[in-house]
Amino acid sequence: MAEKVVIIGSGPAGWAAAIYTSRANLEPLLFEGAATQENYNIGRPPLGQLAITTEVENYPGFPAGPLQQYLTGSIDKKLQYLMNEDAGHGISGPNLMLLMKQQAINFGTRTRTEDITTVDFSSRPFKLTTEGGEVIEAHAVIVATGARANYLGLESENRFKNKGVSACAVCDGALPRFREQPLVVVGGGDSAMEESDYLSKFASKVYVVHRRDEFRASKIMADRVLDNPKIDVKWSTVVDEILGDDEQGVTAVRLRSTKDESQTEELKVSGYFAAIGHTPNTNFLDGQLEMNEKGYVTWTVPFRTNTSVEGVFAAGDVADDNYRQAITAAGSGCMAALDAERWLAAQGHH
Ligand code: NAP
Repeated sequence: MAEKVVIIGSGPAGWAAAIYTSRANLEPLLFEGAATQENYNIGRPPLGQLAITTEVENYPGFPAGPLQQYLTGSIDKKLQYLMNEDAGHGISGPNLMLLMKQQAINFGTRTRTEDITTVDFSSRPFKLTTEGGEVIEAHAVIVATGARANYLGLESENRFKNKGVSACAVCDGALPRFREQPLVVVGGGDSAMEESDYLSKFASKVYVVHRRDEFRASKIMADRVLDNPKIDVKWSTVVDEILGDDEQGVTAVRLRSTKDESQTEELKVSGYFAAIGHTPNTNFLDGQLEMNEKGYVTWTVPFRTNTSVEGVFAAGDVADDNYRQAITAAGSGCMAALDAERWLAAQGHH
């Protein structure tokens, strides 16, 4: 028998959609992705991007402070234990995701820790094929597979992730390890401008490393960086290697000129921020949903999560190349659940 609704993806958008569709008695089945090393390496693990970050201080409801003081007694024992690790912080990314998952399961969401590898949206019920070759039928689908940050591909980026390497200044920039320290941002687009400007509020110095001698960013954002006395631009330069050790994490970067490859320079920094774009996780869709020029799924009805295929909805970063925050992803997950519920009701599936 076909499922009423299948949710693909296990970040904030997926779990918010699961919480709402469970409470609407739609008995959702959620595919959280396979817990493979490859999925971790490419930045697409189960529980999404927050599973590979550290503290989250900007998710409403989780103020910095000793959480266990006011959460004791309200959550399950395993989570209480995890909470103790968060004393003094908002909450860690992985723990926030575990709480969302638990909340969805408590309302009846069924989960499978597998990838959906192909979909067939050409007729209803839709057909979704798991990595093991099983075909799942669904009357409605919510795609919430997120996006992953692009990295340069250096082995040292992996080695120092969460030890000074980040792809999100807004998430991590205010952490103690980066305060009053020199930092480096790689990229020349609006994200690199925004991130370096943001980091300059906390850092002692910010170096923007860009591979060409002009920015791709809009003039207004580029000017803000060029006029900022705390930011230095390293033009026509790439990061060749991130240096550090297991104890301190990142301590320096080695730069190389793109005009004369024999020219190198070492900069002492305690943080490295990649701002070279994101890639939405849409391969498995094989072009069956309309996408924008950057490959993000398009919402086809203003302020609704409808996609180009009736009965398929999209939520979170897979359809958002602009805000990319946990709270906006969760918000659009809720929207997708309500859109799916109304659409299913109109089709006679309650
Ligand atoms: P982007 O515009 O695609 O810029 C990526 C930057 O990274 C480019 O400067 C590119 O260099 C560089 N880059 C890419 N691959 C690289 C590599 N392997 N090595 C070295 N450098 C590399 O991405 P984005 O900055 O994330 O922006 C994405 C979209 O969001 C844009 O449309 C942007 O306008 C928008 N955005 C808007 C705001 C805002 O308005 N507040 C803020 C952030 C983002 P090249 O220039 O040489 O290609």
